[in-house]
Amino acid sequence: MRYYLATLFATFAFAVPWFAYEYPHEFSKAVDVLKSTGSQLAAVIIHKPKTVAELQTKYRAVPTTKAAEKVKVLLVPGHEPGFGGTSFGGTIERELVVELADHLTTFLKGNPHYEVYVTRTNKEWNPAFADYFKNSWNDIVEWRKAHRAQSPTVVSVAQKNGAPKVYHNKAPDNVAMRLHGITKWANENDIDIVLHIHLNDYPRKRSDLPGTYTGLSIYVPQEQFNNSTTTRVIAEALFNRLSKYNPISDLPGESVGIVEEDELIAIGVDNSADAASMLIEYGYIYEPQFTNPDVRSLALKELAYQTYIGLEDFFSQGGSVKSERADTLLVPYYWSNKTETDLRPADIYAIQTALILDGVYPPGKKTKNDCPRSGRIGPCTKEAIGDFQKKYNIPATQIVGEKTVEQLNKLYSGII
Ligand SMILES: [Zn+2]
Repeated sequence: MRYYLATLFATFAFAVPWFAYEYPHEFSKAVDVLKSTGSQLAAVIIHKPKTVAELQTKYRAVPTTKAAEKVKVLLVPGHEPGFGGTSFGGTIERELVVELADHLTTFLKGNPHYEVYVTRTNKEWNPAFADYFKNSWNDIVEWRKAHRAQSPTVVSVAQKNGAPKVYHNKAPDNVAMRLHGITKWANENDIDIVLHIHLNDYPRKRSDLPGTYTGLSIYVPQEQFNNSTTTRVIAEALFNRLSKYNPISDLPGESVGIVEEDELIAIGVDNSADAASMLIEYGYIYEPQFTNPDVRSLALKELAYQTYIGLEDFFSQGGSVKSERADTLLVPYYWSNKTETDLRPADIYAIQTALILDGVYPPGKKTKNDCPRSGRIGPCTKEAIGDFQKKYNIPATQIVGEKTVEQLNKLYSGII
């Protein structure tokens, strides 16, 4: 779930957002001048938003052993150690997002182009952040005030496309201030990309029952923000990879997939972030890939991997062309169990993935939202297995048997 800070924006002129979009650097300076008039809060705020060209040049300059020359990525697993976020039964967002961040860290650390930082574990803040919150609290508060003071000059562009505004949880003050602190730290430490990692939920009467909506969405800064252009290009690369196997949110307001926001602290409310900053809601907490403990780790690692190769797409091809990489970790897969009753959840999860690659899943007119990969055989999987059997001249029983497994292994085990 996202944190939201209610901010009142005064709207004044059409020219300003256009100006901000065309000339982000100049706009930043103009804001500083405006802001400093008559305000004792006017510690001068100088922003150097990261540009696409700058990041791609930096990536190409590697290999180097110097952290400063690498692409610096900060991962922010949503919420706090032991506090906050949504949950569903025993599925706890603030824990799952740490696992996802750990997988992503491993992928990034295996690549010499990246220097990776993570704000917390399940148990505690990264000491660098714990110290920062402790020693720089007053600075963070002042910095936040200064940015808020400038906000009337940063015009909020009305929600585009008439899309309904999505509900966000309001963050308690100290939690909000730590989020501001993370942005401030990222600016000061020359972080290039900040990824906030979350699982979604929405307010409803029976929160003990699965909700109606499923799928992923990526929140990015609205276009009047200095970091909006770079963030969007990277977000599109990530979204291309993630949306191949995972549904896009069908919550009204999120169904565009990449959602522009001006009030989320995480992505730089009041024009406060220099890094490309986005908040990824990887799916809804009650989706079976998260609630089924037998496939949860596979799902989280898969999402981390697709995020990683999305970043690689951005850097390797300027974001327009996908790099030549397999985009799932679940296939190739060798199925050793030959009958449906023997299939384990991991076998089924891999079958569902193979069926996506084969073009028969989701079946018929159903969507990925109707048929999430779950590690369990339900109506979607049965129907798709039937289609797969027909396609390969296997009796269409909709039940996995020896011939179906043989065909799956022939196509998707990587063994010739
Ligand atoms: Zn969250």
